[in-house]
Amino acid sequence: STIIQTNEISRMYQMGTETIHALRSISIEIQKGEYVAFMGPSGSGKSTLMNIIGCLDTPTSGTYILNGKDVSNMVDNELATVRNREIGFVFQTFNLLPRSSSLENVALPLIYAGYSKSDREEKAMEALRSVGLDTRAKHKPNELSGGQRQRVAIARALVNDPSIILADEPTGNLDSKTSYEIMELFENLYAKGNTIIMVTHEDDIAHYAHRIVRLRDGLIESDVINDNVTIPH
Ligand code: ADP
Ligand code: ADP
Repeated sequence: STIIQTNEISRMYQMGTETIHALRSISIEIQKGEYVAFMGPSGSGKSTLMNIIGCLDTPTSGTYILNGKDVSNMVDNELATVRNREIGFVFQTFNLLPRSSSLENVALPLIYAGYSKSDREEKAMEALRSVGLDTRAKHKPNELSGGQRQRVAIARALVNDPSIILADEPTGNLDSKTSYEIMELFENLYAKGNTIIMVTHEDDIAHYAHRIVRLRDGLIESDVINDNVTIPH
């Protein structure tokens, strides 16, 4: 079933008297369980599109239907509610709280969702186990390797059981061996039926996705199925 549908969305920025067309009439449909990589040169609109898909921003025109709901005209607090329910974010820089343990970092989104402390810890532990880091629950970020930090961040993204995992350059700060380990983890998440959307400028990383969408100048330049990846469901 369709999880993301954008209908001719545009995003303009006003810079003094100049209008910047960051996205120009983008229409794209993504099904539940897809693993999509967005590529494109700097300034092509990747961040802008990810911000809209992730409910951090809304289009200037056009509609965005997320999980059957039109979110294009929502105000900030409505958008925040949808975002917290539907989206798990993974960032290039991990964005972990430095003074908090892995378990506390992973449990953080559950505070907003209103779970009790014991439920939060149980769910956070389960998420850490799913990325193979339950033995590092009490460690703080500076006691972990880069790859382990990104696993903690992925566990945090998963803990709320989001509809979509949005990963912005998830391997951008990792060496190649660690990057491939993170891509193996994403393959497993994909095989389990998760919907994953990532931005990357690295071809080797994009090729782990089963669909590769290239942006240029705010337009979709190409949108192809990657035949090297077998779709597990
Ligand atoms: P990418 O992520 O592919 O590098 P962006 O989405 O960041 O592309 O940017 C697309 C275009 O929109 C660029 O020309 C960029 O300078 C412009 N842009 C992005 N965000 C803003 C903003 N907040 N204000 C003004 N211009 C912006
Ligand atoms: P990325 O490295 O992911 O492409 P950018 O460096 O393009 O990210 O943008 C980082 C942030 O700054 C984004 O949130 C984007 O919307 C904003 N941004 C990008 N270009 C501009 C700009 N010209 N003016 C203001 N903000 C911008």
